[in-house]
Amino acid sequence: MDQNFTTLLWANDAGWRFWGIDNHDAANPRDFMSELNLRKKSEWRGFFKALDDLNEPTVTRCPNRTSQPAEVVTTVRVESQIDTHQIEVVTFRVLSEESFTKIETSIEATSLNNTDTLILLFDGKNNLTYRNAATIRDLPESTVTFQDLFNDPSASELLLKSIRKKGEVQVEQELNTRHGSCWHTVSLKKIVASTGNEFSVLVTANNSSRWHVAEQRAKDLAQKDSLTSLPNRAAMSAFLRELTHRKSSESYKAEFGLFFLDLDRFKIINDSLGHAAGDELLIEVANRLRHSVGEMGNVYRLGGDEFVVIFDGLAGYDELTEQAENILNGMDKPAYIADQKLRIRPSIGICTYPADGKSITEVLEHADAAMYLAKAERSGYCFFDAQMTKSHSDSSKNRLSLENDLITAMEENQLEIYYQPKISCQDLSVSGVEALLRWNHPERGMISPEEFIRIAEETNHISAIGRWVLEAAMTQQRKWHDAGLTLPIAINISAQQFHNGDLVEHVSGALKASGCEPDMVELEITESMLLGDTDQIQATLQQLSSMGIMLALDDFGTGFSNLAYLQKYPLDVLKIDRIFLADQKRSMLMGTILNMGKVLGLTVVAEGVENSVQADWLISRGCDQLQGFYFSKPLPVEEITLYLMDKCFNDNSATRSAA
Ligand code: C2E
Ligand code: MG
Ligand code: MG
Repeated sequence: MDQNFTTLLWANDAGWRFWGIDNHDAANPRDFMSELNLRKKSEWRGFFKALDDLNEPTVTRCPNRTSQPAEVVTTVRVESQIDTHQIEVVTFRVLSEESFTKIETSIEATSLNNTDTLILLFDGKNNLTYRNAATIRDLPESTVTFQDLFNDPSASELLLKSIRKKGEVQVEQELNTRHGSCWHTVSLKKIVASTGNEFSVLVTANNSSRWHVAEQRAKDLAQKDSLTSLPNRAAMSAFLRELTHRKSSESYKAEFGLFFLDLDRFKIINDSLGHAAGDELLIEVANRLRHSVGEMGNVYRLGGDEFVVIFDGLAGYDELTEQAENILNGMDKPAYIADQKLRIRPSIGICTYPADGKSITEVLEHADAAMYLAKAERSGYCFFDAQMTKSHSDSSKNRLSLENDLITAMEENQLEIYYQPKISCQDLSVSGVEALLRWNHPERGMISPEEFIRIAEETNHISAIGRWVLEAAMTQQRKWHDAGLTLPIAINISAQQFHNGDLVEHVSGALKASGCEPDMVELEITESMLLGDTDQIQATLQQLSSMGIMLALDDFGTGFSNLAYLQKYPLDVLKIDRIFLADQKRSMLMGTILNMGKVLGLTVVAEGVENSVQADWLISRGCDQLQGFYFSKPLPVEEITLYLMDKCFNDNSATRSAA
């Protein structure tokens, strides 16, 4: 305060508050002395405290208009008498900016040199004028300018600009240290010199690399699939965003190809071999994909058995075909997992940007639709075409309504069994019939079992449906038997039905209810059901076999074609899938499989015989039985009964009573 007690030259914050002055610069002269006398005693305590605080720092800045650095020359002394208060006024010595820094530094030297925080001061020309002990220890001697501090050369310019504007900045930056570049939390503060425009920069920096590593790890985890170590869906979305954004702002033609990949029969493998084996298979697939794609594209795992590959800059039909073939070839050799030889077959949907989709969502949806078609057609890969989206969304809707309708199908007797004869190669007589399920949908007409059995499995309706088929087919067999047509009946068993654990019980129940003899029943299972816990499978098959039931391995050749199964389990019949007759390339193998079946003492049945050339060839090769449209399509019970009567009797008189 000045000697007249009319102007408050300096006070700390508490002091300004005490006098009720908000705007320091605008403080008008007033009679402080008389104001003091008017105040209550209790308020004086606050005032003493405020003045006491003042004794701590001995250099400061006057909070007046010039913000001049100053040294406190005289500290305040207040003497309080009973009714008089004597205040000794604080006086300042105004300092130059340079000597202020010097004094301040020396005062704080002890604390500055005992901290790990790097503290540096740069002058207006960005030259280093002060550094503390931590800085000497951690930063190289070559750090002499502000620019030398930063690993990123462009950082210093931007930061200086920003400090000039804002006065104070805090950033995460990599600093050049003696141990290489290292992340720091850096605070920069503008210190304006009294002399004019030039300003110094006070830098304090704390090493944040540990925190940075943790953050990077968290980021990695968030973008990485923990099982396969491939980048995950989040990483894919980020990359696609970058691609679509970058591409659309550049002048050259923006394009990329996207593969949507899904493994065939993965669910079966996972369910029957267990999740650990499923995981192992996924890791194998990831490795093969990485290897096949190499530097050409980026591979992601979206979850489950779904993968995506993005080929940046590659959108030509030929190039993408080559990549797809390459991936399929990479998957071709068998994988050995959980003591099993497995074939990995992916289906790939291919879509290009921007030709096939204008947005990320659209590209992914379209690749997914193409993948479904590849799966349905077993073609390995399939390019998207506009027609697909409609049929894809139709098929999703279709599936949903089928799921609902399936519940009423059983209650309203919409399920029906058709029968297809099997023909003996010896004398072309009928050697048995196969029961094939049909769903006579009230609106959609006849629905193929291939369309609804999987839905029934996934919605857990299969057990009830399977039980019904067992009993209905055996009852029919018994009816034919009673009418003099004694023919074995083959019944298909679904994977879930087989693994439920109650198959033996259901079969015995159906035998009892129908009165059918066990040796007149042949249960058809497929290879994929034989994967996994072999003890339980062995036990189930053994029990069925010892009941006198015959066991057939259906669709042989479409799955893993593992010959070991044929010896390991008590199988009686080997049914070779119709694909062997339809596919020229595979028909060569047919002869080998026929021979092998014979050697193992199995009855070999060829499926899908459609013409006399095929039939003759199979007969000449020693096949046991034939089944196919050439002899008869699957027929409803009345028609098959007529067929059987015709084939088995010369006399047609018993027709009506058998159906
Ligand atoms: P599958 O057991 O291999 O049955 C043979 C399939 O081949 C039948 O199809 C039959 O109609 C068809 N087929 C027979 N001969 C020929 C031919 O010469 N050429 C051609 N192109 N096809 C022929 P369907 O009836 O559509 O049955 C398909 C599959 O559905 C069956 O294959 C079987 O796996 C399954 N299935 C049928 N009924 C049942 C059932 O009651 N329960 C279970 N779980 N699955 C069933
Ligand atoms: Mg079958
Ligand atoms: Mg079959």
